[in-house]
Amino acid sequence: MIEMTNEEKKYLLSTIRSINDFPKPGIVFRDITTLLNNKDAFNFLMDHLEKRYKSYNLDFITGIESRGFIFGAALASRLRLPFVPIRKPKKLPYITISQKYSLEYGVDEIEIHIDAFSSVKDAKVLLVDDLIATGGTAKASVELINQTNATCVEACFLIDLKDLNGANLVSKLTPLYSILEV
Ligand code: AMP
Repeated sequence: MIEMTNEEKKYLLSTIRSINDFPKPGIVFRDITTLLNNKDAFNFLMDHLEKRYKSYNLDFITGIESRGFIFGAALASRLRLPFVPIRKPKKLPYITISQKYSLEYGVDEIEIHIDAFSSVKDAKVLLVDDLIATGGTAKASVELINQTNATCVEACFLIDLKDLNGANLVSKLTPLYSILEV
């Protein structure tokens, strides 16, 4: 299984900007636009993901709105695979299935097109997002994929906010790979 060395992780982490108190006081926002803006760092990340996942025999890459779309779609293109978006409610135009999940205060929901994986029987799906925090969004996404006739074979994140324990929650449902733990 291909993983990054500590040196490589250090380099990649140095290309991500941290913004204190965004979007609200107390949150350290991990800003991946600086990584995207650096062609060497962006391609270094995509080369790594391509090398890791080319042997997985995947049928689809799924990305979570919205930053999961950037890395997920880029990886799908590299691997010559189809890309499936998981979106916030009322964004997808065709028939959807949805999954609710808890937030710190209240409930949120995500949706996928009902026929997203229907071109392949028992499709093997990789889930991609930029970051896992509490794991609520990713857990709901894995559940959504598995509610269709597809299987989520791994959930992949660029950053895991370790203290929030989201990885524990999600790894009960699917193998999990996070490149950077902060
Ligand atoms: P969660 O459901 O708590 O795991 O939240 C994950 C989602 O929220 C991901 O799509 C992230 O892009 C976003 N997110 C949560 N916390 C942060 C953070 N500190 N910096 C950047 N994005 C975050």
